[in-house]
Amino acid sequence: MNLKIKHAQMAEPTDPAATASARAPQAARQPLAGLDRGELGAFLGRLGVAEKAAPMRANQIWNWLYARGARDFGAMTTLSKDLREALAQRASLRRPEIMRERQSSDGTRKWLLRLDPEEAGRKPAEIETVYIPEEDRGTLCISSQVGCTLTCSFCHTGTQRLVRNLSAGEILAQILVARDALGEWPHASPTPDRAGAPRRRITNVVVMGMGEPLYNFDNVKKALLIASDDAGLAISKRRITLSTSGVVPMMRRCGEEIGVMLAVSLHGVRDEVRDRLVPINRKFPIARLMEACRTYPRVSNTRRITFEYVMLRDINDTADDARALVGLLAGIPAKINLIPFNPWPGSPYECSPWERIERFAEIVNRAGYASPIRAPRGRDIMAACGQLKSRSRRVRAPEAAPGEPDARNPVRGQRLNPARR
Ligand code: SAH
Ligand code: SF4
Repeated sequence: MNLKIKHAQMAEPTDPAATASARAPQAARQPLAGLDRGELGAFLGRLGVAEKAAPMRANQIWNWLYARGARDFGAMTTLSKDLREALAQRASLRRPEIMRERQSSDGTRKWLLRLDPEEAGRKPAEIETVYIPEEDRGTLCISSQVGCTLTCSFCHTGTQRLVRNLSAGEILAQILVARDALGEWPHASPTPDRAGAPRRRITNVVVMGMGEPLYNFDNVKKALLIASDDAGLAISKRRITLSTSGVVPMMRRCGEEIGVMLAVSLHGVRDEVRDRLVPINRKFPIARLMEACRTYPRVSNTRRITFEYVMLRDINDTADDARALVGLLAGIPAKINLIPFNPWPGSPYECSPWERIERFAEIVNRAGYASPIRAPRGRDIMAACGQLKSRSRRVRAPEAAPGEPDARNPVRGQRLNPARR
């Protein structure tokens, strides 16, 4: 079952290059970021590039876009002048605009990005993207939707209604903008490594920002396949983690077709508790979720599933809960990420006391599972897990397609998140 919300305004074209140029006004230019190689070749064909030459030209442009971060067709010196001019007229390399940047005292950086309204048929909207530097790595946390259809009661994003899905280009653009800002392109790097290549600042990508990625499956898939392509951004699939709240029917396809690492937002070990925390649980309860994890494609001891567990005082943090968690994980190659709850204005929960988090971690750890406690990063700039939100609102509520669950609220008629406006 395809749970993607069907809505005329949100539907993604199957061939964005073709559809966009068919419906856009003459002046509208095709954004190149987010086209796969085939679409790029087809677009070049429409610009007059001979069929035989198109794949090679597409590869060259791919290199400029994703290996060198070109922002100007004039710089694409491996292309003929005529082609560069045609591209400048009909195509776009524009990035989302950084509306605001904040830097935490711990070095975390958060960008508020305004998505390019030039993309045909799209309304301007804002999202947040976060960069978390650590000693041995740098993690970029990207968004997949503007807002979220789900209403997890501890999550700030969950108080922002879904405005729209991001396109593949907009998902990717977050990596491009971050690389711009961090000076990570070959020509821009102030700190090359010993071999002369730019020092990698973004070593890992997590799809843990705004939105539920498996409700925007096609675009997330396309973006992550481009991000992991060796000839471009070349971020290994093992260093990309997609986090889902538990959209069970899409999990198998996620493993088979995208193949990145999986994180599952568990947060509760009994249905009555998880129903309240992660309301999608009413649709896909814990037993079904665990079964989907047990049969997840290619899961193994070297490709473990990460279970995220937010520590909420007196809600899900007892020693009994920890033991029940161990029971649930039987047979699943897993590690558990314990996340101290990050508060936000009006949030209805408190973080568990530190000793309780440690005791919980110890029980899980003694059962043989790695159970790191995630150090809160960027709390002072509201950049930590679950604190992201933008002001964008949608004008009209999305409708669930006939026969599909109302993804905005899996249990019709119930207001599950008191904080949602
Ligand atoms: N929608 C996806 C990915 C985005 S949320 C999902 O739910 O998995 C990324 C992670 O942050 C999830 O595990 C989510 O449950 C967690 N999270 C949300 N709000 C939080 C908060 N206030 N404090 C700590 N973690 C939170
Ligand atoms: Fe959406 Fe994830 Fe937040 Fe739940 S935790 S409301 S699924 S972003």
